[in-house]
Amino acid sequence: MKEESCSTCPTKSSCAGGCQRSEAELAEMYDLDADTTEGHMVWVELDYSTGMPELKEASKELIAKARSFDDQRVIGILFGPESARNAAREAFSYGADTIYHVRHPSFTDFNLESFTAGLTAVAERVKPNTLILAASDEGMELGPRTAARMGVGITADCTDLEMDKGVLRMTRPTFGGKLMATIISNTRPQMATVRPGAFPVPEAEEDRQGTVINWPMNPKPHIEPVESIASEEGACLTDAELIISVGGGIGNLRNLELAKEIADRLGAEMACSRNVVEKGWMDQDRQVGQTGNVVKPKVYLALGISGAIQHQTGMSGSQNIIAVNNDPGAAIHQIANVSIIGDVGEFLQRLLKRLDEEEAADI
Ligand SMILES: Cc1cc2nc3c(=O)[nH]c(=O)nc-3n(C[C@H](O)[C@H](O)[C@H](O)COP(=O)(O)OP(=O)(O)OC[C@H]3O[C@@H](n4cnc5c(N)ncnc54)[C@H](O)[C@@H]3O)c2cc1C
Repeated sequence: MKEESCSTCPTKSSCAGGCQRSEAELAEMYDLDADTTEGHMVWVELDYSTGMPELKEASKELIAKARSFDDQRVIGILFGPESARNAAREAFSYGADTIYHVRHPSFTDFNLESFTAGLTAVAERVKPNTLILAASDEGMELGPRTAARMGVGITADCTDLEMDKGVLRMTRPTFGGKLMATIISNTRPQMATVRPGAFPVPEAEEDRQGTVINWPMNPKPHIEPVESIASEEGACLTDAELIISVGGGIGNLRNLELAKEIADRLGAEMACSRNVVEKGWMDQDRQVGQTGNVVKPKVYLALGISGAIQHQTGMSGSQNIIAVNNDPGAAIHQIANVSIIGDVGEFLQRLLKRLDEEEAADI
């Protein structure tokens, strides 16, 4: 029989089927209580859609990436029932040395409270140098919560990671995707969520072995909201079909009132650029853009808005953009379906007059 060796276990015996040692033995064996930051921990996300637990592609990517950092241990943590043990073998084949299997029959389903508690407990025990998760819907919830519990920073939605002598350099887009920022953390573990597809998935090394450490855990009770109170205004904005949005070019409060009156009469929602929020003329929950709402109405009427990239981030998905701006070179005209080069005040007066005329004709 071929001699199989375990890359983390001092006995060098194969225990991929599940380490039978007690938690206390393991703590001593691996010096788990030592105050060190060593090893790279990856949250291993499982897919149960075929009935058998399988690693999601994003997890394979992250395990392989962590393996490429340096020669430190790669520690995976997965949640699942007894049967999830099979997934540990798959994780070894992509580069994991140790898998913490947080076990409970109900963990086939994502459970934010339990996974946060489990991930925090294991990370606090292992004290890894890095802790990375896929920026999947679940990872984007689990990562920041775990970071908050541990009191450490997290860089979200990274597109690249590099390890430089133990320091994780985390790269992600910023300023609406115009720039890439490389961030380093001064807390440990260095935490990141990583966009799925950022790294290639290598060939699996079927013979690679590792250690499984079982971590039984009772699920935490789900937090059920007692009552959901939607922000009346913001919620309408994201669903609105017709939006009248004002920018710095609206010029004065009188013009703003005219715009609101027209919105009322047309059944449109009012929105604005950050400039208008900064002036204190409209509330922040009406702001559209990178740091505001993302809207996709049928018609977005932009009044005196320059079309800065941070604003476009929130409205470029609109079906029709009508821009009123007196500067023909304004960026908003580049993305508008209809461009009106002229004065906002004058446009509003004429539109109101037209509405009055139409109403009078209907009587
Ligand atoms: C990190 C970061 C995040 C940001 N997030 C957002 C965000 O979420 N949303 C957002 O909107 N901005 C955001 N900004 C700010 C953004 O960069 C712009 O400064 C802002 O969008 C400009 O608003 P504006 O176009 O209304 O005003 P201005 O830049 O002042 O433009 C006014 C426009 O009105 C035109 N104009 C002037 N007078 C008239 C007139 N009488 N008639 C017709 N047109 C006229 C001018 O030609 C000009 O194009 C962010 C910036 C940063 C750095």
